Amino acid sequence: MLDAYRREIRYLRLSVTDRCNYRCAYCMPPEGMNWLEPSAILTDEEILRLLSVLGREGVSKVRLTGGEPLVRPGFVDLVRKIRSLDLIEDLSLTTNGSLLARHAEELKSAGLNRVNISLDTIDPERFRTLTCGGDVRDVLTGIETAIRVGLSPVKINVVLTAAVDEADLAFFQKLVREQPVAVRFIEYMPSRRCRVEAGMTMTSVTEYLSRLAAGKLAPPRHNPFGCGPARYLQSETDQGAYGFIEPISNCFCDRCNRLRLTADGRLRPCLLSDAEIDLRAALRSQASEEEIVGLYRLAVRSKPSSHHLADSETAAFVNRGMSQIGG
Ligand code: SAM
Ligand code: SF4
Repeated sequence: MLDAYRREIRYLRLSVTDRCNYRCAYCMPPEGMNWLEPSAILTDEEILRLLSVLGREGVSKVRLTGGEPLVRPGFVDLVRKIRSLDLIEDLSLTTNGSLLARHAEELKSAGLNRVNISLDTIDPERFRTLTCGGDVRDVLTGIETAIRVGLSPVKINVVLTAAVDEADLAFFQKLVREQPVAVRFIEYMPSRRCRVEAGMTMTSVTEYLSRLAAGKLAPPRHNPFGCGPARYLQSETDQGAYGFIEPISNCFCDRCNRLRLTADGRLRPCLLSDAEIDLRAALRSQASEEEIVGLYRLAVRSKPSSHHLADSETAAFVNRGMSQIGG
């Protein structure tokens, strides 16, 4: 379905929980958030009903997110049930990677296609501080396991803050040289709940990588990493690639092809606008398929042309935090 600005909407980011076992400084305050009551969260059956309606409306790509999706009880089963609908071509997951090593194999056999893993620094102390207690070894093992079981292409998401240093860039450079993974650097989006120190910038990352690659970085000839918001570069000898995602300084809203569904069933046309359409109320009042389709089409039609993050000092105008939307 096309929105009012002729963008084709086929992609849903679906949050399955607002809970998380980490408290990343750029996402949540250290004390955590007020979690949703379990009864407020969409059940497996409600998610499946929605996806079967939206799948018939042309949604063919679904990314499961959170909070941390792997803390949802029965998550692997949910993946299996979504796959068995036979409507979603591309089923992927965004995770902090902490619980991935123990679930990657069963997720693969449940029908998950691929995974994005968040990892900003490999320094154990800085990682622990950034995530409020996380152990970076869990994430590194999660990445290795995801590559081994073929949840590919594996993408690593790195949010740029002072927690990232040149030793991290050297680690990512080795990973890209040796493995078919995409390491994607993401511009930090300020939030009113969180304060992180600015540090590594997109310019410093690009300069560092170009120096290491002796200026030989170019867009990949065959790009297996998709056509989302990231701009990709690699050198001829790299197995993988670098991605750059710049929601503020290089706004990609004109190519935005996604809607977001929160864990409590609110459909959001834009990450950075509070407009929401309540699908949970429709599902719980036995709405017909036509009524749900009507609400979905309304969300698509009301997708704004662009966010206004660059005009405001912070994303303070957004009511929900990243973990409550799904990033
Ligand atoms: N817990 C999972 C994870 O961390 O990958 C999935 C949910 S998380 C909200 C989704 C994505 O949002 C992650 O890649 C995370 O790094 C990113 N994110 C969270 N807060 C952000 C911020 N303030 N600016 C930019 N990206 C952010
Ligand atoms: Fe949790 Fe992901 Fe937010 Fe970190 S970025 S606190 S892992 S939801």
